[in-house]
Amino acid sequence: MYIVSSCLCGNPCRYNGSAGQISKYPRVRELLAQGLAVAVCPELLGGLPVPRPPAEITGGTATDVLKGKAKVVNANGVDVTENYTEGARMALELALQAGCNKAILKERSPACGVHRVYDGSFNGTVVPGDGVLAAMLKSHGFQVISDEDL
Ligand code: SF4
Repeated sequence: MYIVSSCLCGNPCRYNGSAGQISKYPRVRELLAQGLAVAVCPELLGGLPVPRPPAEITGGTATDVLKGKAKVVNANGVDVTENYTEGARMALELALQAGCNKAILKERSPACGVHRVYDGSFNGTVVPGDGVLAAMLKSHGFQVISDEDL
């Protein structure tokens, strides 16, 4: 069973209210049709609305965020760390309840990014690193796959 970023399933949950195009992700479509995928949006699970200001990890890595040593801050300077940690915790719980041990997540998101995230400067610079959910799932032994590697 897979946990999948909800926006990759065509749900309009991105910060700007847009969705990924499911037609671009035949593997996700297949898994959903077979009942082998659970769609989650950790940012919404953490209580954030649609639309919302974009947010980036600042002052460390996603693992540091989970340890309380770095933050997630939105473009208005509001600290949304708790939304991200709580959303990741809830997504993990849902994934475990559904028997998932793999994930397909949206690259570059501060929650879902798998190999790359924005660097906290809000100037479009991308650095190697995980999103908060990806880091949490990896630390619980999930195989985490980027949408860009499908
Ligand atoms: S948090 Fe993840 S699932 Fe939600 S919109 Fe961002 S990338 Fe998609």
